[in-house]
Amino acid sequence: MRDATRVIRAGLSTPAQGEPFLPGPTFASKFFLEGEPSSSPYTYGRNGNPTWTLFEGALAELEGGPALVFSSGMAAVNAVWADVLLRAPGPRVLVMPSDGYNLGRRVAREFYAPLGVEVRMARTADPAAADLFDGATLVWLESPSNPELDVCDLAKLTEEAHRHGAVVAVDNTTATALSQRPLELGADFSVASDSKALTGHSDLILGHVAVRDPERAARLRRWRDEQGSIAGPMEVWLAHRSLATLDVRLERECANALEIARFLKTRPEVRRVRYPGLPDDPSHRIASRQMRRFGTIVSFELADRATADRFLHACRLVLPATSFGGVHTTAERRGRWAGETTLAEGFVRLSAGCESAEDLIEDIALALASVGGD
Ligand SMILES: *Cc1c(COP(=O)(O)O)cnc(C)c1O
Repeated sequence: MRDATRVIRAGLSTPAQGEPFLPGPTFASKFFLEGEPSSSPYTYGRNGNPTWTLFEGALAELEGGPALVFSSGMAAVNAVWADVLLRAPGPRVLVMPSDGYNLGRRVAREFYAPLGVEVRMARTADPAAADLFDGATLVWLESPSNPELDVCDLAKLTEEAHRHGAVVAVDNTTATALSQRPLELGADFSVASDSKALTGHSDLILGHVAVRDPERAARLRRWRDEQGSIAGPMEVWLAHRSLATLDVRLERECANALEIARFLKTRPEVRRVRYPGLPDDPSHRIASRQMRRFGTIVSFELADRATADRFLHACRLVLPATSFGGVHTTAERRGRWAGETTLAEGFVRLSAGCESAEDLIEDIALALASVGGD
């Protein structure tokens, strides 16, 4: 079965007479439960819910391993970090990208480091990154990295990390499981924020973890119950409903991203356009081997902060907003966030939506013309 078919059927039961394809959300804090609790699949709402079960079944089909839904991407990240780092005896070492998702870096520095976890960072595209794997407990990878879109060889780094005895997790948010399957590439965990492209309508916060080892899956399930980092059934149902259009959304969004990147490359006011789908992009070679689609994000630099701000203000269709992966094209000057100290002041991250590429390029062209160049 191809992905385009799989996402539409994923997690659905065999159609039954008079039943909907995707049952509506189950709202329940408790379930009718008589006698021995283990005789029922559902007992208490923090423990399990039929709406989660269906969506997790869909994710498992796409990821290639058991999956668990969490209340946010950060809840999913923390579930993995806690499972691997806090349970490990002796010295614990977390290796992670210095150019990855900024909140993850902050949590590593401000929460895990004071608990005794040694945090080592290297850039995603650094060929010497594997030199940090000696003694590593967890190697955390993110590819393409958010927001600079560097790509690393996931299979090669995973093999190297395993040789050093480390557990490997990939933050697969920017790619989604339709573009890249970390578990197939050897990783122990595939983690994602489903607030982005996977659900794609900018209307919910959610995350998930897929894992190779069923024992780890069971431990994560217990952790979720103990921490209470559970998603509401409405969000999970909306996510499952949105999943059906993931392939068509990605098709349009990735095509738009490529068109926009190509256009930006022709403009003298725009520097350092990054898109893994551009043949001359530093990420292109590995991305072509590793990914089925090149993603929905384009990044680039304008002369300075004021030019970038004027450009974003001048766009009519490209909406100023943070985050990415939605059907509406959005962009922001990343440096406006306190944690993003390494990016140029004029660095812009653009998330291509599903609009007409011609309209978007006209909008971007007008906005660029109105701010002028150097
Ligand atoms: C957004 C994001 C997260 C965090 O996800 P939330 O759903 O916002 O909690 C983690 N990793 C990456 C790469 C992200 O872009």
